[in-house]
Amino acid sequence: MGNVAGSTVRERREAAILPGYERLGGPVPVVYPPNLRERAAEARDLLEAGAAALSEILGVGPPGLEALLVADADWGRTPRENERSYPPGLPYFTRAATPPALVLPETLSPAFRPRTDATGALVIWHELAHAFLLRKPLPRTPAWLREFLPQTLSAAATRRAGLPLERHLEEIDRHSDLTVRSFGDRARAEEQMAFQNVLLSLGTAAVEEFGEEFLRTLAHALWAERDIVDEKRAEGLLADSLGPGGREWLASRSEF
Ligand SMILES: [Zn+2]
Repeated sequence: MGNVAGSTVRERREAAILPGYERLGGPVPVVYPPNLRERAAEARDLLEAGAAALSEILGVGPPGLEALLVADADWGRTPRENERSYPPGLPYFTRAATPPALVLPETLSPAFRPRTDATGALVIWHELAHAFLLRKPLPRTPAWLREFLPQTLSAAATRRAGLPLERHLEEIDRHSDLTVRSFGDRARAEEQMAFQNVLLSLGTAAVEEFGEEFLRTLAHALWAERDIVDEKRAEGLLADSLGPGGREWLASRSEF
């Protein structure tokens, strides 16, 4: 690591992974390359607002975390669970770093659609929600339930922030045959996006119909589960957390 400046072990570690990167303090600090300082400040502000909203909605404090805003040229060096680097442009949460990290690409993959004034916040808050949810062990669940919570939490935070969520939803390409539960684990980035957009529509509609309290109920119910959550149990957990009329409402939704 050579003549790296920095008095703490952590600063050295960051410098070792991403040489020349700087660090912006905040509730979720952001490590970034000097030419992306403005983007780092935006991310820092979004993370601060998102952490406050998610703490309130879930009734838990924010997890110890930092964000790595990574230049495209450095994507191959990011911390990750696997040997191989992840596809470029896809943000992710990883516990392979200490503290755990939200890895944010300089250039977001073109798979992210639609692009509106809400896209950036939705993407960052989705990954932040994963970090909140993984602070306690989560049971294995169907893919749709695993992604429903972060999608709906990011939608709830976006509504709170007054960002144009409605316009964002209107711009989604509809795949009439795609439902939340038809999605398997393996999928290309475009399929993954279509799936996430169906979840976003369903989650936003649920928040509008039932309020955001069910998100806390559902998260705490999942944290309390000890066994693998199968399809039937997953549907029951979601319906019960919505409250009276939840089961009927879910059955009436084309996304489900
Ligand atoms: Zn996710």
